Amino acid sequence: MQNAGECGFLSPIRLQLTVVREYDHIRVNGRVEARVRLNCSRCLKEYETEVFSSFTIFYTPAAGMPQDEEVELAEEDLISATYGGDEIDFTSEIAEQVAMEIPFQPLCKEDCRGLCTRCGADLNGAECGCDRTVENVKLSALKNFKIKK
Ligand SMILES: [Zn+2]
Ligand SMILES: [Zn+2]
Repeated sequence: MQNAGECGFLSPIRLQLTVVREYDHIRVNGRVEARVRLNCSRCLKEYETEVFSSFTIFYTPAAGMPQDEEVELAEEDLISATYGGDEIDFTSEIAEQVAMEIPFQPLCKEDCRGLCTRCGADLNGAECGCDRTVENVKLSALKNFKIKK
């Protein structure tokens, strides 16, 4: 059992990367697929889902980065990062891509009924029989309201 908000990876992340060296940077086009385990934000149950992400990352050498110059990129979803030495570690940028695809309020299914606000029973299973019609009660009270003349 994992804590709410945590995300467990069920399989190795499948990754397709195309790395192109362009004039002063390295462009990485990637697609990542991962099977993750999340906790439903309504019924708190664990469920599994696939996340996909396509991305483009521009890597410029750390040493060659102009200090105060803002690098303007045409498209907002482009990511720029730096690398040093002869190796590029893609891990943090790719982890970030996967993290962005993980829903903020995960749902095990679109119409998850969640938990009973009274007894905490999982309403996807069986109706617990609690009276949760608080709002309806208010409405019927209004219906009976009569204006005194
Ligand atoms: Zn759920
Ligand atoms: Zn209940």
